[in-house]
Amino acid sequence: MQGEESRERTEVLITADQIRAKVAQLGRRITLDYQHRPLTLVAILKGATVFVADLMRHIDLPLELDFMALSSYGPSTRSSGIVRIIKDLDRSVEGRHVLIVEDIVDTGLTLNYLFGHLKARGPASVRICTLLDKPQRRQVAVPLHYKGFEIPDDFVVGYGLDYDERYRNLPDVCRLVRMAEA
Ligand code: 5GP
Repeated sequence: MQGEESRERTEVLITADQIRAKVAQLGRRITLDYQHRPLTLVAILKGATVFVADLMRHIDLPLELDFMALSSYGPSTRSSGIVRIIKDLDRSVEGRHVLIVEDIVDTGLTLNYLFGHLKARGPASVRICTLLDKPQRRQVAVPLHYKGFEIPDDFVVGYGLDYDERYRNLPDVCRLVRMAEA
């Protein structure tokens, strides 16, 4: 598939079928692990929206869904390392088991900050569930309790992930390939 301005194209890295199977598997594990515990899914906007929508339908437990928005990539494809809360949770997570649902962990800076931040709000526990992990670029260690796929150091789009707000609607996870400047 080609970008509107033909500056880049996409190559499928993980198919929609592979994602579907993995998300179902993650949902089953989470269901078993959180039996009889008050669970709050905290999905990170906007990239994790597609993932959390699929994942929560494979979690057979009563749960609450909340969202946070953090500063992340602009048009550039590299992390700034600056984390800022743009949208906070709607409800308190005190005494609840929090599962952060993220699209991708790259340097780990975003989740490292969020993990510590949410722990300070008095939840019963905080864990992380990420669809994608790019371990090669990690700068800080973060505990990834639930992980979908490890991927190489490529910039990926699709299944909720964007490049400058485009490509979120692709059903597969794709590598973004820059074309040579014309
Ligand atoms: P970190 O703080 O771990 O470096 O970056 C986490 C955030 O950076 C992710 O939530 C995501 O928004 C963005 N990000 C990291 N790698 C990629 C990538 O390959 N593609 C896209 N679209 N976003 C990425």
